[in-house]
Amino acid sequence: MTDRGLYIHIPFCSGKCYYCDFFSVALDTEKLDFFTKKIIKEIEYFSNQYPDTRISSIYIGGGTPSIVPYLYIERIVKRISDLFLVNSEEFTIEVNPGEIEWVKEYSNLGVNRISLGVQSLNNNVLLKCGRRHNRDSIIYALQEISKYYDNVSCDLILGLPGQNENIVMNDINEVSNYVKHISLYFLKIGEGTKFYDFLKNKTIDFPEDDNLVEIYYLAKNKMLELGYIRYEVSNFAKENFQSKHNTLYWSRKEYIGVGPSACSLIGNKRLQISKLNYFNDKITEYLTEEVLTLEEMAKETVILSLRTDYGLDLNRFEKTYGKSIFQMFPEAMEKNLKFFEFFNRNFLKIREEYFLSQNIIFEDFL
Ligand code: SF4
Repeated sequence: MTDRGLYIHIPFCSGKCYYCDFFSVALDTEKLDFFTKKIIKEIEYFSNQYPDTRISSIYIGGGTPSIVPYLYIERIVKRISDLFLVNSEEFTIEVNPGEIEWVKEYSNLGVNRISLGVQSLNNNVLLKCGRRHNRDSIIYALQEISKYYDNVSCDLILGLPGQNENIVMNDINEVSNYVKHISLYFLKIGEGTKFYDFLKNKTIDFPEDDNLVEIYYLAKNKMLELGYIRYEVSNFAKENFQSKHNTLYWSRKEYIGVGPSACSLIGNKRLQISKLNYFNDKITEYLTEEVLTLEEMAKETVILSLRTDYGLDLNRFEKTYGKSIFQMFPEAMEKNLKFFEFFNRNFLKIREEYFLSQNIIFEDFL
């Protein structure tokens, strides 16, 4: 059997946040039945194609899965356990404040981790982001979720308009009363988002990049003080609460993704479900397959591993790709050697002072 993670993309949301470039559409209750059947068909497709799969973690993300009535989520999860051998240590579902109606019931399906989209606790910042909840509904959601789950994560975003150092520090302090895991993402402004237009038309001021680096390090130190460990550039967890599902992505282990825009990695293949015409097509018409070369896989391994605090396992790299990283990427290694450090004899990682410059370093490996 091969252990694989399973990601399910539920694309429905009650509105569009101004920074969001995930695939999401308004919830259309009439389409829900059709959508659920389609997700189940994809699960069936993957179970037929890869019958050797043992599911090691499940992540239901989106979108906002928590606005979909429980009945549909239950139907999907039941089909997963009918078709796959499930040995899932971690089963996460994403929820949004104000949209937590079935939080308690999820545990009946085996869910043992909740990820709450907080982004900020400051009402002014939330308003500027087009979020549809406020500080009170976030605190209420955190209190409710904590009644039923020990393993709770929340997302915060750094770089939002109206945000400053104090706001970020207060947010971290407050959420730390409830959560074992904090993801602190830098705001990325993608084309097609409202923020992209705001930036282009200078409608709103965004915090300066230099300021954000400073706030990131203050936030990192605050989280260390509060007992969180950083294990990936944007992810902090209490001991033993690191996300197993996300660690699987960074370790370049295999996973199956279903739902519009979801991606799978199986052996040397990347399979992508198109979000275009998702609601009309047959799976074979919207699933594309890319076969990766050994060098492409090696590049991905380097880039994904170096985002983490575990770093790149040089022995494992050489065993997998038949060459050392120095033999495979001699120029990139020579140019960037000063940014790296070796630790535990066989691990390579980016030095802390360059940790946020990783995208510049990665360009040499592409
Ligand atoms: S709730 Fe999440 S997925 Fe939906 S629009 Fe906002 S950020 Fe995007």
